[in-house]
Amino acid sequence: MEVKLLRVTEEGLALVANAARVSGLSSMRDTEAIVKLITDNDYSSVLEHICFTFDIAGISVALSRELLEHRIASHTARSTRYNEERGFEYYIPEGLKGDDEAMRIYREAMSHAEEAYVRLRGLGIGREEARYVLPMALHTHYVVTMNVRSLINFFMLRLCVRASPEMRELAMRMYKICAREYPVIFARIWCRGFTLGVCPENKARPAKCPFIGIITNKGVVKRKFEVEARRIIEKELAKRS
Ligand SMILES: Cc1cc2nc3c(=O)[nH]c(=O)nc-3n(C[C@H](O)[C@H](O)[C@H](O)COP(=O)(O)OP(=O)(O)OC[C@H]3O[C@@H](n4cnc5c(N)ncnc54)[C@H](O)[C@@H]3O)c2cc1C
Repeated sequence: MEVKLLRVTEEGLALVANAARVSGLSSMRDTEAIVKLITDNDYSSVLEHICFTFDIAGISVALSRELLEHRIASHTARSTRYNEERGFEYYIPEGLKGDDEAMRIYREAMSHAEEAYVRLRGLGIGREEARYVLPMALHTHYVVTMNVRSLINFFMLRLCVRASPEMRELAMRMYKICAREYPVIFARIWCRGFTLGVCPENKARPAKCPFIGIITNKGVVKRKFEVEARRIIEKELAKRS
Protein backbone atom coordinates (compact mmCIF):
# COMPACT_ATOMS: atom_id res chain seq x y z
CA MET A 1 0.00 0.00 0.00
CA GLU A 2 1.22 3.47 -0.85
CA VAL A 3 -0.46 6.66 0.33
CA LYS A 4 0.58 10.03 -1.07
CA LEU A 5 -0.75 13.48 -0.36
CA LEU A 6 -1.85 15.06 -3.63
CA ARG A 7 -3.18 18.29 -2.21
CA VAL A 8 -4.02 19.96 1.08
CA THR A 9 -5.60 23.34 1.78
CA GLU A 10 -2.81 25.83 2.50
CA GLU A 11 -2.90 28.20 5.47
CA GLY A 12 -5.72 26.07 6.83
CA LEU A 13 -5.38 27.12 10.47
CA ALA A 14 -5.81 30.81 9.57
CA LEU A 15 -8.72 29.91 7.30
CA VAL A 16 -10.48 27.98 10.07
CA ALA A 17 -9.74 30.59 12.74
CA ASN A 18 -11.00 33.39 10.50
CA ALA A 19 -14.18 31.44 9.75
CA ALA A 20 -14.65 30.89 13.48
CA ARG A 21 -14.16 34.61 14.12
CA VAL A 22 -16.88 35.35 11.55
CA SER A 23 -19.17 33.00 13.45
CA GLY A 24 -18.54 34.84 16.72
CA LEU A 25 -15.25 33.83 18.32
CA SER A 26 -13.94 37.35 17.70
CA SER A 27 -12.75 37.90 21.28
CA MET A 28 -10.15 35.14 20.90
CA ARG A 29 -7.23 36.36 18.85
CA ASP A 30 -4.76 33.50 18.89
CA THR A 31 -5.24 31.25 15.84
CA GLU A 32 -3.91 28.08 17.47
CA ALA A 33 -6.07 28.59 20.57
CA ILE A 34 -9.17 28.93 18.39
CA VAL A 35 -8.38 25.78 16.40
CA LYS A 36 -7.69 23.80 19.59
CA LEU A 37 -10.99 24.94 21.11
CA ILE A 38 -12.91 24.07 17.95
CA THR A 39 -11.36 20.61 17.76
CA ASP A 40 -11.74 19.81 21.46
CA ASN A 41 -15.30 21.13 21.76
CA ASP A 42 -16.36 19.65 18.42
CA TYR A 43 -17.47 22.93 16.86
CA SER A 44 -16.20 21.21 13.79
CA SER A 45 -18.19 22.64 10.87
CA VAL A 46 -15.44 25.26 10.41
CA LEU A 47 -12.88 22.44 10.05
CA GLU A 48 -14.64 21.55 6.80
CA HIS A 49 -12.74 24.42 5.16
CA ILE A 50 -9.55 22.32 5.16
CA CYS A 51 -9.45 19.47 2.62
CA PHE A 52 -6.95 16.69 1.94
CA THR A 53 -6.68 14.72 -1.32
CA PHE A 54 -4.88 11.37 -1.12
CA ASP A 55 -3.59 9.07 -3.83
CA ILE A 56 -3.90 5.51 -2.52
CA ALA A 57 -2.27 2.68 -4.47
CA GLY A 58 -2.12 -1.05 -3.82
CA ILE A 59 -5.22 -1.53 -1.68
CA SER A 60 -7.70 -4.36 -2.14
CA VAL A 61 -11.11 -3.95 -3.73
CA ALA A 62 -12.48 -5.18 -0.37
CA LEU A 63 -10.87 -2.19 1.34
CA SER A 64 -12.04 0.22 -1.36
CA ARG A 65 -15.63 -0.87 -0.58
CA GLU A 66 -15.11 -0.06 3.09
CA LEU A 67 -13.61 3.29 2.18
CA LEU A 68 -16.61 4.09 0.01
CA GLU A 69 -18.85 3.70 3.07
CA HIS A 70 -17.48 7.08 4.16
CA ARG A 71 -20.07 9.15 2.32
CA ILE A 72 -18.78 12.59 3.27
CA ALA A 73 -15.89 12.38 0.82
CA SER A 74 -15.19 12.45 -2.91
CA HIS A 75 -14.15 9.08 -4.27
CA THR A 76 -12.50 7.95 -7.52
CA ALA A 77 -11.45 4.33 -8.09
CA ARG A 78 -9.66 2.54 -10.90
CA SER A 79 -12.25 1.06 -13.23
CA THR A 80 -12.22 -2.66 -13.95
CA ARG A 81 -14.53 -1.94 -16.90
CA TYR A 82 -11.96 0.17 -18.71
CA ASN A 83 -8.63 -1.21 -17.45
CA GLU A 84 -7.01 -4.52 -18.31
CA GLU A 85 -6.47 -6.65 -15.17
CA ARG A 86 -4.29 -9.38 -16.71
CA GLY A 87 -1.38 -10.11 -14.35
CA PHE A 88 -3.05 -8.29 -11.47
CA GLU A 89 -1.44 -7.82 -8.06
CA TYR A 90 -3.36 -8.65 -4.91
CA TYR A 91 -3.54 -8.13 -1.16
CA ILE A 92 -2.25 -10.80 1.19
CA PRO A 93 -3.80 -10.65 4.69
CA GLU A 94 -1.22 -10.52 7.49
CA GLY A 95 -3.07 -13.39 9.22
CA LEU A 96 -2.10 -15.77 6.38
CA LYS A 97 1.58 -14.92 6.27
CA GLY A 98 3.68 -17.61 7.93
CA ASP A 99 1.03 -20.33 7.36
CA ASP A 100 2.40 -22.20 4.35
CA GLU A 101 -0.74 -24.25 3.67
CA ALA A 102 -3.06 -21.24 3.90
CA MET A 103 -0.74 -19.24 1.65
CA ARG A 104 -0.70 -22.05 -0.92
CA ILE A 105 -4.52 -22.20 -1.04
CA TYR A 106 -4.74 -18.41 -1.24
CA ARG A 107 -2.21 -18.05 -4.06
CA GLU A 108 -3.88 -20.92 -5.92
CA ALA A 109 -7.25 -19.10 -5.76
CA MET A 110 -5.62 -15.94 -7.12
CA SER A 111 -3.99 -17.74 -10.00
CA HIS A 112 -7.24 -19.57 -10.83
CA ALA A 113 -9.03 -16.22 -10.96
CA GLU A 114 -6.30 -14.77 -13.17
CA GLU A 115 -6.37 -17.78 -15.45
CA ALA A 116 -10.17 -17.54 -15.83
CA TYR A 117 -9.88 -13.81 -16.59
CA VAL A 118 -7.19 -14.36 -19.22
CA ARG A 119 -9.11 -17.26 -20.81
CA LEU A 120 -12.29 -15.20 -21.03
CA ARG A 121 -10.37 -12.29 -22.55
CA GLY A 122 -8.75 -14.76 -24.97
CA LEU A 123 -12.24 -15.76 -26.14
CA GLY A 124 -12.89 -12.13 -27.00
CA ILE A 125 -15.00 -11.50 -23.89
CA GLY A 126 -14.88 -7.84 -22.88
CA ARG A 127 -13.21 -6.45 -19.73
CA GLU A 128 -16.67 -5.49 -18.53
CA GLU A 129 -17.82 -9.13 -18.45
CA ALA A 130 -14.51 -10.83 -17.61
CA ARG A 131 -13.99 -8.67 -14.50
CA TYR A 132 -16.64 -10.61 -12.55
CA VAL A 133 -14.15 -13.42 -11.92
CA LEU A 134 -11.69 -11.03 -10.25
CA PRO A 135 -11.15 -11.46 -6.49
CA MET A 136 -11.86 -9.02 -3.63
CA ALA A 137 -8.11 -9.08 -2.98
CA LEU A 138 -7.42 -7.46 -6.37
CA HIS A 139 -5.25 -4.37 -5.98
CA THR A 140 -6.91 -1.15 -6.95
CA HIS A 141 -5.94 2.51 -7.15
CA TYR A 142 -7.93 5.21 -5.41
CA VAL A 143 -8.13 8.96 -5.05
CA VAL A 144 -10.10 10.35 -2.14
CA THR A 145 -10.74 13.89 -0.96
CA MET A 146 -11.99 14.47 2.57
CA ASN A 147 -12.42 17.55 4.67
CA VAL A 148 -10.96 17.62 8.17
CA ARG A 149 -14.30 17.10 9.89
CA SER A 150 -14.90 13.95 7.89
CA LEU A 151 -11.29 12.83 8.39
CA ILE A 152 -11.72 13.13 12.15
CA ASN A 153 -14.79 10.88 11.94
CA PHE A 154 -12.82 8.49 9.70
CA PHE A 155 -9.88 8.28 12.11
CA MET A 156 -12.15 7.87 15.14
CA LEU A 157 -13.72 4.80 13.52
CA ARG A 158 -10.82 3.37 11.59
CA LEU A 159 -7.88 3.80 13.97
CA CYS A 160 -9.83 1.67 16.44
CA VAL A 161 -8.36 -1.82 16.84
CA ARG A 162 -11.78 -3.17 15.76
CA ALA A 163 -11.26 -1.83 12.23
CA SER A 164 -10.05 -4.39 9.69
CA PRO A 165 -6.23 -4.68 9.62
CA GLU A 166 -5.95 -3.37 6.06
CA MET A 167 -8.25 -0.42 6.85
CA ARG A 168 -6.33 0.38 10.03
CA GLU A 169 -3.07 0.34 8.06
CA LEU A 170 -4.57 2.81 5.57
CA ALA A 171 -5.93 5.01 8.36
CA MET A 172 -2.50 5.08 10.06
CA ARG A 173 -0.79 6.15 6.85
CA MET A 174 -3.36 8.87 6.20
CA TYR A 175 -3.18 9.98 9.85
CA LYS A 176 0.62 10.39 9.69
CA ILE A 177 0.22 12.71 6.71
CA CYS A 178 -2.55 14.71 8.39
CA ALA A 179 -0.60 15.00 11.65
CA ARG A 180 2.45 16.23 9.74
CA GLU A 181 0.40 18.90 7.92
CA TYR A 182 -1.81 20.04 10.81
CA PRO A 183 -0.42 18.78 14.14
CA VAL A 184 -2.49 21.28 16.14
CA ILE A 185 -5.64 19.50 15.02
CA PHE A 186 -4.61 15.89 14.66
CA ALA A 187 -2.60 15.57 17.88
CA ARG A 188 -6.03 15.81 19.58
CA ILE A 189 -7.47 12.98 17.48
CA TRP A 190 -7.10 9.18 17.44
CA CYS A 191 -9.74 6.47 17.90
CA ARG A 192 -13.14 7.34 19.41
CA GLY A 193 -11.98 6.43 22.92
CA PHE A 194 -9.02 8.82 22.82
CA THR A 195 -10.88 11.61 21.03
CA LEU A 196 -14.06 11.50 23.12
CA GLY A 197 -12.46 10.50 26.41
CA VAL A 198 -14.73 7.42 26.68
CA CYS A 199 -14.90 4.33 24.48
CA PRO A 200 -18.35 3.74 22.90
CA GLU A 201 -17.38 0.18 21.95
CA ASN A 202 -18.30 -0.96 25.49
CA LYS A 203 -18.50 -4.79 25.58
CA ALA A 204 -17.40 -5.06 21.93
CA ARG A 205 -14.03 -3.63 22.95
CA PRO A 206 -11.39 -6.30 22.38
CA ALA A 207 -8.69 -7.22 24.92
CA LYS A 208 -6.03 -6.06 22.44
CA CYS A 209 -7.19 -2.41 22.77
CA PRO A 210 -4.04 -0.58 23.99
CA PHE A 211 -6.12 1.92 26.03
CA ILE A 212 -7.87 -0.58 28.29
CA GLY A 213 -7.15 0.55 31.84
CA ILE A 214 -6.74 4.22 30.92
CA ILE A 215 -9.86 5.00 28.84
CA THR A 216 -13.18 4.00 30.41
CA ASN A 217 -16.09 2.41 28.55
CA LYS A 218 -18.93 4.83 27.83
CA GLY A 219 -21.44 2.49 29.50
CA VAL A 220 -19.51 2.61 32.79
CA VAL A 221 -19.41 6.42 32.79
CA LYS A 222 -23.08 6.64 31.83
CA ARG A 223 -24.23 4.30 34.58
CA LYS A 224 -22.84 6.75 37.16
CA PHE A 225 -25.13 9.61 36.15
CA GLU A 226 -27.91 8.02 34.15
CA VAL A 227 -30.60 7.68 36.84
CA GLU A 228 -30.08 11.19 38.21
CA ALA A 229 -29.75 12.72 34.72
CA ARG A 230 -32.94 10.96 33.55
CA ARG A 231 -34.79 12.44 36.55
CA ILE A 232 -33.63 15.93 35.49
CA ILE A 233 -34.76 15.27 31.90
CA GLU A 234 -38.21 14.08 33.07
CA LYS A 235 -38.55 17.29 35.16
CA GLU A 236 -37.63 19.41 32.13
CA LEU A 237 -40.24 17.57 30.03
CA ALA A 238 -42.90 17.84 32.75
CA LYS A 239 -42.55 21.65 32.75
CA ARG A 240 -43.69 21.57 29.12
CA SER A 241 -46.70 19.28 29.44
C1 LIG B 1 -15.44 -1.57 13.16
C2 LIG B 1 -16.41 -1.28 12.07
C3 LIG B 1 -17.25 -2.28 11.60
C4 LIG B 1 -18.17 -2.02 10.57
N1 LIG B 1 -18.99 -3.01 10.13
C5 LIG B 1 -19.88 -2.77 9.14
C6 LIG B 1 -20.76 -3.79 8.67
O1 LIG B 1 -20.73 -4.91 9.16
N2 LIG B 1 -21.60 -3.48 7.64
C7 LIG B 1 -21.67 -2.23 7.10
O2 LIG B 1 -22.47 -2.00 6.19
N3 LIG B 1 -20.86 -1.25 7.54
C8 LIG B 1 -19.97 -1.49 8.53
N4 LIG B 1 -19.15 -0.49 8.97
C9 LIG B 1 -19.22 0.83 8.30
C10 LIG B 1 -20.02 1.84 9.12
O3 LIG B 1 -21.32 1.38 9.36
C11 LIG B 1 -20.07 3.18 8.39
O4 LIG B 1 -20.79 3.03 7.19
C12 LIG B 1 -18.71 3.71 8.05
O5 LIG B 1 -17.85 3.60 9.14
C13 LIG B 1 -18.82 5.18 7.64
O6 LIG B 1 -19.06 5.93 8.79
P1 LIG B 1 -19.97 7.22 8.78
O7 LIG B 1 -21.35 6.91 8.35
O8 LIG B 1 -19.81 7.86 10.15
O9 LIG B 1 -19.19 8.13 7.70
P2 LIG B 1 -19.80 9.10 6.60
O10 LIG B 1 -20.66 8.35 5.65
O11 LIG B 1 -18.61 9.82 6.03
O12 LIG B 1 -20.72 10.07 7.41
C14 LIG B 1 -20.14 11.00 8.31
C15 LIG B 1 -21.21 11.44 9.28
O13 LIG B 1 -22.22 12.16 8.55
C16 LIG B 1 -23.48 11.85 9.09
N5 LIG B 1 -24.28 11.17 8.06
C17 LIG B 1 -23.85 10.72 6.86
N6 LIG B 1 -24.87 10.22 6.16
C18 LIG B 1 -25.97 10.35 6.92
C19 LIG B 1 -27.33 10.00 6.75
N7 LIG B 1 -27.81 9.41 5.67
N8 LIG B 1 -28.19 10.29 7.74
C20 LIG B 1 -27.77 10.90 8.86
N9 LIG B 1 -26.48 11.25 9.11
C21 LIG B 1 -25.59 10.97 8.14
C22 LIG B 1 -23.25 10.93 10.30
O14 LIG B 1 -23.12 11.73 11.44
C23 LIG B 1 -21.94 10.30 9.98
O15 LIG B 1 -21.23 9.85 11.12
C24 LIG B 1 -18.23 -0.72 10.01
C25 LIG B 1 -17.39 0.29 10.48
C26 LIG B 1 -16.49 0.02 11.49
C27 LIG B 1 -15.59 1.12 11.98
